[in-house]
Amino acid sequence: RVKNTGRDGYQVFTADMAGTTQRLRLEQDMHRALANQEFDVVYQAQIDSAIGEMVGVEALVRWNHPRLGRLEPSEFIGIAEDSRLIAELDRSTLRKSVRELAKARQEGGRGLRLSVNISPLMVARDDFVDTVLEVLRQEGFPAQLLELEITENLLISDRQDVIAKLQRLNEIGVNIAIDDFGTGYSSLSYLQKLPIHTLKIDRSFTRQVKACDDGACIVNAIVAMAQGLRMNIVVEGVETMLQLDYLRALGCGVVQGFLYGQPDSLERLWQRGAAPEAL
Ligand code: C2E
Ligand code: CA
Ligand code: CA
Ligand code: CA
Repeated sequence: RVKNTGRDGYQVFTADMAGTTQRLRLEQDMHRALANQEFDVVYQAQIDSAIGEMVGVEALVRWNHPRLGRLEPSEFIGIAEDSRLIAELDRSTLRKSVRELAKARQEGGRGLRLSVNISPLMVARDDFVDTVLEVLRQEGFPAQLLELEITENLLISDRQDVIAKLQRLNEIGVNIAIDDFGTGYSSLSYLQKLPIHTLKIDRSFTRQVKACDDGACIVNAIVAMAQGLRMNIVVEGVETMLQLDYLRALGCGVVQGFLYGQPDSLERLWQRGAAPEAL
């Protein structure tokens, strides 16, 4: 990053400004991209570690940018949030992924659970719950197989509004997962008060599970708490056999991570099966 050292203040073309220009351009592109269907969805397998079977998938959005190629969420989710396009993007990702899972079900696939990331700005919208309902009905997908992933920080602000929406979703049968659990700033009291079904242990904790180490203590603690509260657990970022074996022994349920390969299309996930790739 270049510092502005010019006495007259003219030497201001910094890396920041190049970044700002790029952001503005991407923000403009995003309007067109939504209309042009430039976004698509890849899926990451969620595997029941006890039986070694794929039991669900998480939908992850990708942007096929005509000039810049395939973009990852880290390159555009922030921009989508700043420009308030995120709700539209989330709605489109929800619809696409529900449609693909509904189709897979009709074609004889088992009842895979679908997890979809939902931004706080989407939850804040008055039509949030109705949008979810409408997508489920129009695509013919059972509410019981949908899980929405929200982050802890959402539960700090605007609480009454958020609580009412989560309760409505719960009544409909939709599950709620707390994504990146343990990395937000939130008290734990909401876990008892709100209809939360699943804790997703953030990969920064999973990463600490290594040989000959006490790095697993946070994972142990979250698992013990979730079991006490009768919540499901999904452990994110499982990359090694050692981690898988450790989590399996702990009775951790569902795992997700590069050990089973990169996120991919539904068809390729089916073909790949649920065997760790490292083997
Ligand atoms: P996330 O919800 O925590 O999703 C998991 C991210 O970790 C994914 O990155 C996935 O590819 C990556 N990952 C999975 N397993 C491993 C592993 O074993 N090791 C490592 N190092 N990484 C792993 P991705 O697809 O780039 O998504 C990044 C974030 O962008 C997501 O984090 C989520 O917060 C957000 N995101 C993705 N899709 C959507 C969406 O449709 N809507 C919204 N609002 N956010 C989304
Ligand atoms: Ca997620
Ligand atoms: Ca996560
Ligand atoms: Ca995340």
